Amino acid sequence: MKCGICKAEMDETTVTYTEDIDQGVIVIRYVPAHVCTECGNTWYNGTIAARLEKMIDRYASSTETEVSVINFEKSVA
Ligand SMILES: [Zn+2]
Repeated sequence: MKCGICKAEMDETTVTYTEDIDQGVIVIRYVPAHVCTECGNTWYNGTIAARLEKMIDRYASSTETEVSVINFEKSVA
């Protein structure tokens, strides 16, 4: 697929996604994504984006540790 910003080719890969929450930061590893080879723009498909959102919601309300590292592949959310 092509990048929505610069129209270059995008690589299918996995990335580490980070999200700032009130009490710290959530790090989600091995998230399937498309990354632009030119500008680095990262794109997640709808299913992945929805799962990410759910995982962040769940961890943001349940964790009290400053840094949570989650493996996307092993998460059931
Ligand atoms: Zn691009």
